[in-house]
Amino acid sequence: MNVDAVVFDWGGTLTPWHTIDPHECWLAVTGDEVHAAALRAAEDAAWLLSRDEHRSATVEQILADAALTLTDEQLRTYYTWWDDHSYTDPQVPQLFQALRDRGLRVGVLSNTIWPRIEHERIFSRDEVNHLIDGAVYSSEIPWTKPDPRAFAAALDAVGVTDPGRAVFVGDRLFDDIFGAKRAGMRAVHIPHSVIPTAQTTGVEGQPDAVIDQLLDLLPLIDGWM
Ligand SMILES: [Mg+2]
Repeated sequence: MNVDAVVFDWGGTLTPWHTIDPHECWLAVTGDEVHAAALRAAEDAAWLLSRDEHRSATVEQILADAALTLTDEQLRTYYTWWDDHSYTDPQVPQLFQALRDRGLRVGVLSNTIWPRIEHERIFSRDEVNHLIDGAVYSSEIPWTKPDPRAFAAALDAVGVTDPGRAVFVGDRLFDDIFGAKRAGMRAVHIPHSVIPTAQTTGVEGQPDAVIDQLLDLLPLIDGWM
């Protein structure tokens, strides 16, 4: 057996991709066009920092950069606005269980500005949180994918010391595939997301495999094992 863990990206991988308008989200939260525009600009700047310097950010930092504060109720509105766009792919419970039945550990590594508690709320809502052995959210570390330190943190979280014994699954050829390959992992691409051009770099990793749907991972990993 030569695979110990499978680590998944979140958005566009464990959740089917949705193209959303960030301004619409912030407008729903603040009810104010000017504030929404300031928050959108601060969020765009945070994602550029992630793309170009692989530095992470948090919702709190975005609020500070926009020189705005939100009430607890507005923050709740922000997170629940995403509820329709964050549902877990229906294949995930069966997939995670099947991986665990094979003795593999299941991990998550997400570039995200959200705190862990919101991600765990979503995973619990969709009844998969108990199937995750370790998760790293970039909001909790200084780096984002593709920085090798982000991948190292995820491997740590699932107790893997040899990256060659871990598989990464993601929807982005730079953040996920280039990053995982450079970190010494095997990489599987699930190519259904419409990645905004502003979030791409022209640098693309070469995946070890491409799958059409999440459950196609099982025969692939069985072959590797
Ligand atoms: Mg993704």
